[in-house]
Order: sequence, then structure tokens, then C-alpha cells
Amino acid sequence: MTEPRMITLPTADHGPVTLDEPAWCIGHPNHRPDDRRADILHTGPDVALVFQGRDIGDASLVESPYAELPGGALGVSVSLLGRTLDPVHLYGFAASLDTYADRLRDLADQLTALLAGGGQ
Ligand SMILES: [Zn+2]
Repeated sequence: MTEPRMITLPTADHGPVTLDEPAWCIGHPNHRPDDRRADILHTGPDVALVFQGRDIGDASLVESPYAELPGGALGVSVSLLGRTLDPVHLYGFAASLDTYADRLRDLADQLTALLAGGGQ
């Protein structure tokens, strides 16, 4: 167990704000003094989808401790969707990606057969 971390961030509307820093948060390098308190966002390490050096999308834990959001302030931000998802929707999105990957394999099978002269 690590000690609870506290951080203090300057804000335009509430001055310096001191809050708990979750163990999973990578810090706030992009926080600006003119940000509002509701803009404070904890962010976890990225899970990135990278293919041949191209960043296709990423996802990470996020929490907006002072924002009033439907469904709560903690979620997983998914860049491909531009949305933050709860566990149910994240599992659903992952299942859709599984289906998409299967369809890509089907296309690869079809392409392999066509290139081999099998045609159809
Ligand atoms: Zn944080």
C-alpha cells in the first residue's frame, strides 16, 4: 500500500485546490492555471491501439472529481468514440471490436483465396 497522495492545482474559479490523487493517475502536466475546478481530470496510463507505428486510438481511466456528469465522474475515455464509458458500455464496445476483428479475419481469408486464384 502506498500513502494517499495529495496534490494542489491552481484554478481560475476556486484558487488553489487540494485533492486526493488516485494511485492510477499519471499526473496533471497539461493543467493550466486558468482551468476551472470542474476541468480537473485524473487520467490513467493509455491503452493504445497502434499498428505499424500509427496510433489508431487509445483509452484510459479518467475521473472528473468536480464535474457533474450523468452516470458518475469515473469512467474510461475511449478516443475512437470521443466518449467516456461505464463498465457495461466498455464491455459492449470491446465485444464490437471482437466482432470487427473476426470480420477482418474473414476478409483476409477471402483475399488469400482470391490471390491464390481460388476466386468465387
Ligand atoms: Zn490526478
